[in-house]
Amino acid sequence: MILIDGKKIAAEIRDELKKEISELKKKKNLVPGLTVILIGDLAPSQIYVRMKEKAAIEVGLKSEIIKFPKDIDEKIVLDKIDELNNDSLISGILVQLPLPKHIDKKKVIERISPLKDVDGFHPVNVGNLSSGYKSIIPCTPLGCYLLIKKYEQNLNGKKAVVIGRSNLNGKPMTQLLLRENCTVTITHSKTKDLKAECSEADIIVAAAGIPELVRGDWVKKDAIVIDVGINKTDKGIVGDVAFDEVSKFAKALTPVPGGVGPMTIACLLKNTVECFKNLLK
Ligand code: NAD
Repeated sequence: MILIDGKKIAAEIRDELKKEISELKKKKNLVPGLTVILIGDLAPSQIYVRMKEKAAIEVGLKSEIIKFPKDIDEKIVLDKIDELNNDSLISGILVQLPLPKHIDKKKVIERISPLKDVDGFHPVNVGNLSSGYKSIIPCTPLGCYLLIKKYEQNLNGKKAVVIGRSNLNGKPMTQLLLRENCTVTITHSKTKDLKAECSEADIIVAAAGIPELVRGDWVKKDAIVIDVGINKTDKGIVGDVAFDEVSKFAKALTPVPGGVGPMTIACLLKNTVECFKNLLK
């Protein structure tokens, strides 16, 4: 079984970005800038934002975190996004989710210019991805896609099962696999027989948020299994895949941690550079 080393592959992506950013600096005398808006004091959000900032600085991006208290007026946030949209030194804007209840997530996502939407959540980017046009692709599914492609270049006609249909993971993942000519089944909480669906799959991407949902006897020999899940349990952080069982069957499998997680951050940096280059055009 191949243990897909997301940490290593993410480090390779970051190294390439580092070189590209330094070239851009030499040629254009400009550095891509990522601004993250953090509202409230949720501990996981604070950790994620700090990790993003550290990674951004390491590759040579400019990085800024704008913090608002959890009771901030929605209008102040929207006005700040307008200001950042109009600031030519900012290439990427990210509003850390989840948001406090009184702030409308849809309004916030739609306010970010699609050209600076490093998360790829704006309806223009979502529509472009599903229409097969160039778009900014959400970081986690992009990371999963790059991991799959590393081990299987030709996905033509492969059977893929995506577990979960969230806008963040399952839906964009489905579009990426379709784009590669996979036959994709997207499953969700109302799917009748998930085991039967998975047992046909050449590729499984699990993003349900249920600890060790995918069992060893669900997985075809030689399947590639990508585990997106991050679940806190009594025995620590586990994925959506029962790692010990599935590793006996799968051809390749991502660990948790050290699989998809590092790729998400690397792809955020990649998207920031992509937005920067698109804005220069
Ligand atoms: P979500 O709660 O928005 O969506 C979960 C999806 O799973 C839903 O579409 C639901 O219908 C489906 N689902 C629930 N039970 C199911 C079942 N029994 N069978 C099939 N589908 C089922 O979650 P999300 O935001 O997409 O996140 C999913 C997981 O991925 C979470 O564990 C989250 O922490 C993790 N995550 C990891 C990264 C990373 O970088 N590795 C990034 C984002 C999210």
